[in-house]
Order: sequence, then structure tokens, then C-alpha cells
Amino acid sequence: MNAKELRRYFPILDQQVNGHPLVYLDSGATSQKPIQVIEAVDKYYREYNSNVHRGVHTLGTKATDAYEGAREKVRSFINARDTAEIIFTRGTTTAINTVVYGYARQILKPGDEIVTTVVEHHANFIPWQQAAKVTGATFKFIPLQEDGTVTLEAVKETVTANTKIVAIHHISNVLGDTTPIKEIAAIAHQHGAILLVDGAQSAPHKKVDMQDLDCDFYTFSAHKMCGPTGIGVLYGKRELLEKTEPVEFGGEMIDYVDLYESTWKELPWKFEGGTPIIAGAVGLGAAIDFLTEIGMEEIERNEKQLVRYAMEQMKEIEGLTIYGPQENRSSLITFNLDSVHPHDLATVLDSYGIAVRAGHHCAQPLMRWLKVSATARASFYLYNTEEDVDTLIAGLKKTKEYFGNVFS
Ligand code: PMP
Repeated sequence: MNAKELRRYFPILDQQVNGHPLVYLDSGATSQKPIQVIEAVDKYYREYNSNVHRGVHTLGTKATDAYEGAREKVRSFINARDTAEIIFTRGTTTAINTVVYGYARQILKPGDEIVTTVVEHHANFIPWQQAAKVTGATFKFIPLQEDGTVTLEAVKETVTANTKIVAIHHISNVLGDTTPIKEIAAIAHQHGAILLVDGAQSAPHKKVDMQDLDCDFYTFSAHKMCGPTGIGVLYGKRELLEKTEPVEFGGEMIDYVDLYESTWKELPWKFEGGTPIIAGAVGLGAAIDFLTEIGMEEIERNEKQLVRYAMEQMKEIEGLTIYGPQENRSSLITFNLDSVHPHDLATVLDSYGIAVRAGHHCAQPLMRWLKVSATARASFYLYNTEEDVDTLIAGLKKTKEYFGNVFS
């Protein structure tokens, strides 16, 4: 199915914004939701809303089956060994914080190293920065190529016998580059370190296979992959999750509670204190069915082609700077146009119905590395067409003309 055919599943795309047909180019921030997902959530609330893992009554059993069924769908989607390795969280941010508080802060000591890059989203940066401060570990950065990409040589130079954790993006939400996770995992493991991967921008856009990548933790958010907000996934290898402490205590996650001691449920439930995000899990399950039916390889292929199509035309616009690798980019293009502030650029594009993101993209260290305060970003997903790109290019040309006249 091509993007034009897929669009009919996304009712939100069929609207006018500021008198123009909506061109949604902000899926890197959050994707739109197909009717399959909207209806699955609606059906849960209409027909079997109930708490999970508790009642023996019929609705409770249906809700539990749907919730645990979604976990199995996630397991299969990322080819994890076992559903015990799939923890539902609030999103990528919560998933990374669970590893930092439950694992890293417990094991790190002065002299140990946390290795990362300045490319990381704040969600995969600040938790480690703060963990380093509290534990006395060293916070180290892999040097980047001129275009912001990470080479294996640079990883090899940075990771040492003192490195305990490598935390890195799979696909950057600013540069659109893809890091060689499988090879980075091998380097980390040779040195006895573990690898956490921020998969927020990769799980929605390409096939990911935990057993093949061999990373130790992998995190992603449902809302960027056609699913609802409020739910995400922490994948972890069983032996590491066993060593990770729960970070939220309360109902649902306990085995036995006494006055001065308590014990926890087994994996994955020891991490899911309180009533979980049941409707979210149902919606995520429906999103995975939807994506799987289209095929992740097909999604990746189409998006890469669309990005190439957009890059070719954007490179023709004088004064437009594209950040990150010029080839082999995934799903998003980050740019600036002349000296126009990206917020002004995004505001003018919005007046033509074109939604792009402007700002620091939750990556302030990277903005500083790029020597800019902010950029604009057009991010694509399976429902974007070449016509969307053409509208963006026309919008950029009109913006350039407009600001050219203002400044001249
Ligand atoms: N990492 C990356 C690369 C992201 O793009 C995002 C979302 N912009 C996050 C982490 C954080 O995801 P969430 O806000 O869903 O927790």
C-alpha cells in the first residue's frame, strides 16, 4: 500500500488548516493515529473497560487478555526472546529513567564511565548526566564526524575497561542518521559494558530485532508509531532486568508485603506499579498490527525514498542549510533558511497549512555543537506523499521570498 492509499486510514489528515489542506510534517514529535487504533481504544472503553490482573469477572479477564496480548505483540514486533523482557512504561523518557534509577545508579561508582554522544535527545542525556554527578562516574562523549555521525573507530577510542554503560540513539531526532547498533553492542560487550539504545525514532521507522542487535536495553514510545500517547516500552535482557530494582512501588508490583519487608512480582510486572495504561496498551497493540500489515521494510524503503526526493529539491534552494548526513537519512530533515529564525519560518509555513517543528528539538548540546540556537525540522511518516514534499518546497520558496523582501 502506498502513502496515498494509507492516508484514508488517518481521518485527521483530511482537514484544512489556515485555509489550506493540512500537510503534517511533524511525525518525529508525534505521529497521527489510524482509525484502527482509534477504534481499538474506543472499543476497549465501550465494551470491556476493567482493571487488569485483578478480578476474575469476565470484563477483567478480557482487559487482562488484551493488555497481556499487547505485550506479546510488542515482543514479536521487536523479536525479543520473552514477554518478561517487555515492560510497559509511560514512554521513552520513563523507560530510560527506569534503567538509570533502577540499574545504573545502583552499580556506578567513581572511576566508572558512562559513554554517550552530544547528539542525544535530552531524555537520553540528562538522566545519565545526573547519574554521573550523583555517583561520581565520568560522563564521556564519543567524538563525532563533521556531519554529526558516529563511527565505530570513534566508539572504539572512547569505550574503555572502565566503561560500564554506553547510551546512544539508534536514529537521531535531529540528524536522521542511523548508528551501527549491532557493532556498538559488540564493542561495549568486549569491555564488559552494557548498551542502552534510544529507539524512539527507530522503532516507528524500521524493523528492529533485539536478538540480532544484541543491545541490553532498548526504549521507544507508542505515540511516534501510530499508537496512543502515555505508553512506551522498555525492553531489557532478562538477566539485567532481574538485577534492576523497581523504581515505582505500590499496588500491582508486589508479591508479599510485611511491616518491614516486601517482595516483588516476577518480571515484567515488578516494574508496573499501579493501574497500568490499559487503553494505551490496547492502542499500541492495534498500532503494531497496522504497521506489521504494511511491513516495516516497506515503510523504511518508502520513507527513505521520500527523504531523498525532498533533499534533492531542498539542496536547490539557495541559503538553505541541511544538518546531518547528506546521504542515507531516515525520515527527517533538519534545516535552516538564510537568517530566518526557525520559529518565524515554521509560523509562515503554518499559514500555508504546513506543520513543521522549530526549536532545539530537546537536544541543546547538539544545537551548541552545530553552532545554532535552533533549527526547523520536517519529519515524515508512512502517510506522507511526494505532493506533501512539493507543498513544503513551494512553502519554503515563498517564505524565502517573503523574508527576502522584508530584509531588503
Ligand atoms: N528520544 C528521541 C530520539 C526522541 O525523538 C524522543 C521524542 N522526541 C524521545 C527520546 C522522548 O520520547 P518521549 O517524549 O515519548 O518520552
